[in-house]
Amino acid sequence: MTTCVASKGIVWRKREDSRRMASMVSIRFYAELNDFLLPEKRQVSFSQGFNGWPAVKALIESLGVPHTEVDLILINQESVDFSCRVRDGNRISVYPVFEALDIRPILRVRPEPLREPSFILDTHLGRLAGYLRMAGFDTLYQNDYADEALASASAGEKRILLTRDRGLLKRSVVTHGYLVRSDNPQEQLKEVLHRFDLFNAMKPFRLCIRCNEPLRAIPATEAKGSVPRQVWEQARSYKSCPVCGRIYWKGSHYQKMAGLISRIREKAGRAVCVTDELQHDRTAKEGGSIDAEKETGPDRL
Ligand SMILES: [Zn+2]
Repeated sequence: MTTCVASKGIVWRKREDSRRMASMVSIRFYAELNDFLLPEKRQVSFSQGFNGWPAVKALIESLGVPHTEVDLILINQESVDFSCRVRDGNRISVYPVFEALDIRPILRVRPEPLREPSFILDTHLGRLAGYLRMAGFDTLYQNDYADEALASASAGEKRILLTRDRGLLKRSVVTHGYLVRSDNPQEQLKEVLHRFDLFNAMKPFRLCIRCNEPLRAIPATEAKGSVPRQVWEQARSYKSCPVCGRIYWKGSHYQKMAGLISRIREKAGRAVCVTDELQHDRTAKEGGSIDAEKETGPDRL
């Protein structure tokens, strides 16, 4: 981090419209950060009054933008960190996280982005958790996580916190997070893949959708007797979860999920290449069948 130099070139003047606030800055937010602003403040520079000598982080969050969404702040065209104090007359530009763009030559407000992203999700995002695991991303999820536990696990394990709760992202301990906008699980998956540019990092059907554990290949003979007869007659390769014992094989659910990933990649203009790994779920001891597989997976976390 650089020394805050925002005070350079300050114009110490009071404006006529700032009688209630001691000081005023001009601030603009870029790209998706505008989602958090009032309509009249989107995509434009606007004046913002303040009292005292606040850190730029506090000023940004007072406008509704979680600091976890911010990756670059310029004050008077100089890169600063979150603790930089705002002064009257500053011109502030605030940019979102550039996971897809290398801005290392420019100072950042946080450590380097996570190169092997892993996630922790709030209790509202169970189906998204399944989709992320399906795509091969290490994803923690429980339907009873407390906010405190989510925040501390995110910080301690360097996991990106995905949430629908803006307030959760305002916790200072959280450095990597994202507010999921959509309430549709498949759209949420698209959002996250785009947001963190994960298209080349996907390793579909690597993890147990239920446990988040890496699957291991098993010989077909080991699966015999544990999968429905129809499956045994059709599937030739199997994997199993070392934790829950579920057996995965290629089937209708596999085709459905592979199709979803391909469509997302196509829309993103990326090469369509779903890895030819297996998928399927559910063991015979649970009474699974090919048809029943359609009802399992991410929706049933
Ligand atoms: Zn499992």
